[in-house]
Amino acid sequence: MTTSDSAVLEIENLDEGYEINDHTESNSNIEMKRYNDYKGLFARKDIIAGSVIFPMKGIISTRANKYSVQMGQDKHIDFPPVRKPNDDLDYAWQYVNHSCEPNGYVNAEEYTFCALRNIRKGEEITFNYLTTESELATPFRCECGSAKCFGFIRGNKFLTVDQIAELLPVESITT
Ligand SMILES: [Zn+2]
Repeated sequence: MTTSDSAVLEIENLDEGYEINDHTESNSNIEMKRYNDYKGLFARKDIIAGSVIFPMKGIISTRANKYSVQMGQDKHIDFPPVRKPNDDLDYAWQYVNHSCEPNGYVNAEEYTFCALRNIRKGEEITFNYLTTESELATPFRCECGSAKCFGFIRGNKFLTVDQIAELLPVESITT
C-alpha cells in the first residue's frame, strides 16, 4: 500500500468525519494578517507558480459552512472536533479570501492549495470560491473591481457554461 497510486484517496469514497492530511506539518510560507475588519492569508516568502502552498487539512463534512471549502460532491473540508493550541494555520483555508482574479487554487484531487501564478512575499493569497463551491453557505457581493468580476458570489451551480469556462483551473470544479 505504499505506491503513489494507492496512496491517493478518492474524495468520493471518504466518509464524513474522515481526517485529511493530519500527518502533515504546518509550514512557514504563510501567515494570517488582519486588515480593517478582515483577516487574510499572506505569503511570507516568494512562492513559485504551481507549487503547493499548504495541504488542505481538516475533516470531511457533508455540509458547507462559512469557512469550509468544497472538495467534492457533498464533501466539505471543515475543522476537526478536537483542536490543538495555536493550530489556526493548520487550517489556513479558513483565512483565504475570494478573488475573481486569484493567485491560488484548491487542488481537490490532491488535497492541496497551490499557487496559480508566482506570488511575491507579502502578497495576499486568494482563490476564486466559485472554483470549489457549488452553493455558498454565505453568499456575498464581490467588489474586487476586476473586469472579470463575477459579481454576486453564490456558487458555481448558478453560473452559465460560459462563466464556468472562465474559471481557472476548470478541472477543479466538482459539479
Ligand atoms: Zn470579483
